[in-house]
Amino acid sequence: METSHEQCYRVRVPAKVNLALCVGGLADDGYHPLGTVFHAIGLYDDVIARPAPAGVTEISVTGEGVEDVPTDERNLAWKAARLLAETHGHGDLGVRLTIRKQVPVAGGMAGGSADAAAALLACSMLWDLDTGPDELHELAAQLGSDVPFALVGGNAIGRGRGDELVPLLSRGTYHWVLALAHGGLSTPAVYRRFDELGGEHSTDIPDEVLNALAVGDVRALADAMRNDLQPAALDLRPELAETLEVGRSRGALGGIVSGSGPSCAFLAASESDAMDLASALSRLPQVRATRRASGPVPGAKPIG
Ligand code: ATP
Repeated sequence: METSHEQCYRVRVPAKVNLALCVGGLADDGYHPLGTVFHAIGLYDDVIARPAPAGVTEISVTGEGVEDVPTDERNLAWKAARLLAETHGHGDLGVRLTIRKQVPVAGGMAGGSADAAAALLACSMLWDLDTGPDELHELAAQLGSDVPFALVGGNAIGRGRGDELVPLLSRGTYHWVLALAHGGLSTPAVYRRFDELGGEHSTDIPDEVLNALAVGDVRALADAMRNDLQPAALDLRPELAETLEVGRSRGALGGIVSGSGPSCAFLAASESDAMDLASALSRLPQVRATRRASGPVPGAKPIG
């Protein structure tokens, strides 16, 4: 039971879209090398850490998609808390984590990774550990390739498995509409289909994406966005092609499948265009819901 004077550390963490997701062929280590441009958008999960008896890790989840989120050691936030405690030689440290989700689950927006990043920060504060940015980054990379970006946010190039980050300065604010689908898509399944579809693979990020961001040219960015996983996601979920088509015909400057899907991300010219687009997309039967968000926004941050 929560008491008014109980210590409580809250961290807010954003979702991401990939403005470019350039995927190389399957390497010997079983991973696909990536060249990606991450972009953090203002759609957030909150992770709250409260004290618990020694050795106890508890997770409760509320909000978007709770029925699909594990509340045991399979939860990435659970893994993050345990990794942090063990790294500091205090495997017995306890925590009660509450996750308030707004980021769609298995939606290609790295919600689980975001929660892991937020849990690292929230537990570090709760346990009063001296964890600097480098250590946080290293622990984050052990938890998953999208986790380090959730700590920093903004825009960043990701190489390797996506965890070797170079921050990118950009101009302007970008208005996004997300079309959420019924059900999720498994990231490993999308990569498997990507391998089956074959073809030429390259991790080269198009210069046009980087140039458009540097000057804040939203139309050029919309034209240049690229997701190599999109054909695989469309193959597994053909109705997403219509979602993309309708979005473009209803005023989006551009639209792509977000990460491994099935969420689709559309760039709009303005906030009011984004509202019109969201309302058109929400009438499609394959669209479960729409969200509007702008980016870039900062990464995981303590909130009051
Ligand atoms: P990615 O592209 O990084 O795989 P995603 O956005 O497609 O991410 P997530 O929302 O991170 O997908 O969820 C993928 C799976 O991870 C879910 O099906 C769920 O079972 C599991 N999972 C573990 N921890 C979490 C968490 N904290 N929030 C959401 N899902 C989680």
